[in-house]
Amino acid sequence: MSVCRACPRLVTWREEVAVTKRAAFADQPYWGRPVPALGPPDAPVLVVGLAPAAHGANRTGRNFTGDRSGDWLYAALHRAGYANQPVSWAAGDGLELDGVRIIAPVRCAPPQNKPTLVERQTCAPWLDADLARSAPFVRSIMCLGSIGWDATIAGVRHAGWEVPRPKPKFGHGARATLRTPEGREVALVGCYHVSQQNTFTGKLTESMLDEVIASL
Ligand code: SF4
Repeated sequence: MSVCRACPRLVTWREEVAVTKRAAFADQPYWGRPVPALGPPDAPVLVVGLAPAAHGANRTGRNFTGDRSGDWLYAALHRAGYANQPVSWAAGDGLELDGVRIIAPVRCAPPQNKPTLVERQTCAPWLDADLARSAPFVRSIMCLGSIGWDATIAGVRHAGWEVPRPKPKFGHGARATLRTPEGREVALVGCYHVSQQNTFTGKLTESMLDEVIASL
């Protein structure tokens, strides 16, 4: 997966950013490749985001580490006992996750954090593979935003899971029950994305995030 070059626009962007860098990180190596899932493969909780940030996960190679969105997510995961530290800004900083695995449905950093529909569809098989790997263990899937929500529903449908009809709608705190082909129930849970657009404006507060995580 870390050698995938299926999306020309994203390949160009991830690699350009890795060469030009942000001044604050000029002394650091950039990952500049697709970002794999982070956390133990047998985790009972999955967090599905959107895509790596250009100077965050595209730098560190780990989802949500190294940017302001990650500050919110890891602080909340730490409060809930899923992360051993509340911040993570560089690769090899000692971050360890317990019971949670974090996945980006688009694995490469997109310009303006906006992948196209075609790019989302092109990356879908990687998400499908991650969902298949987690299927025997997962209890809850928290989707940060509607793109992660839709990608997860499409992914589990491909894998033959039962999804309620009509299709469950994304919302903060929205919940639906999925069923694996073996008949096991898995909770699908919506949460506003931890982007600065939401956290700076108060659309998503710490207590709102904590409440969703506590329900997983
Ligand atoms: Fe490959 Fe996904 Fe990256 Fe596109 S976004 S190049 S499909 S890993």
